[in-house]
Amino acid sequence: MRILVIADVHSNLVALEAVLDSVGSVDAVWHLGDVVGYGPEPNAVISRLRSLGGVGVRGNHDVATLGGPEIREFNSDARRAIEWTQGVLEPAARAWLAELPERLTLGECSLVHGSLRDPIWEYLVGDRVAAANLDLLTTTCGLHGHTHFPTAYRRETDGQVSSISPSDGTMVKLGDRRVLANPGSVGQPRDRDPRASALVVDLGKRELTWHRVAYDIGATQDAMRRHGLPARLVERLQLGL
Ligand code: ZN
Repeated sequence: MRILVIADVHSNLVALEAVLDSVGSVDAVWHLGDVVGYGPEPNAVISRLRSLGGVGVRGNHDVATLGGPEIREFNSDARRAIEWTQGVLEPAARAWLAELPERLTLGECSLVHGSLRDPIWEYLVGDRVAAANLDLLTTTCGLHGHTHFPTAYRRETDGQVSSISPSDGTMVKLGDRRVLANPGSVGQPRDRDPRASALVVDLGKRELTWHRVAYDIGATQDAMRRHGLPARLVERLQLGL
């Protein structure tokens, strides 16, 4: 079974389509939240995920878009994008978002947006935070997003935590040691590589493989400008920041 794992799509349909084209046929699509926010096409992204039978969890931008008090935690640009999203979100898309759980266990994988300790807000960055979350992991593989950085943390046989920052084509074996994997962001990468980032989990080969996919950033930026979304959010896409 080959599974596409995506996170932080952030209403960027052009990036999502490029990822889907690039990874070829998959048996399932799992998402790790922040389906909306920042970008210009929330309804189209949700309907595309629905058409693919995508399953996943809710992120901080999703809960804020649904009207949660979380919106107070965002900076002004992010908040403006969330308020714009609230204004255009169609009822069916809203209902789909509202049904996303905070956590999901699918076979030997646990899915959250932030971390196992705090699924909505914690940024899983650094060995100490990773160690605490590896202790909470009850499956072989923990999949999380939120940071917009592709990463993998693994508990080694000596108990230490090792980490990598995967690039295009990086592969990690799924073995007996527990691993926390972040696919990076489809819609707004922040590791200075503006290409969309995604992960393919191959349960047959027992491999996790990261992919970076170029997409038409200008098309997404044009749509953002048309909708009056903040200029800083438009510009950061081409910088990968
Ligand atoms: Zn995000």
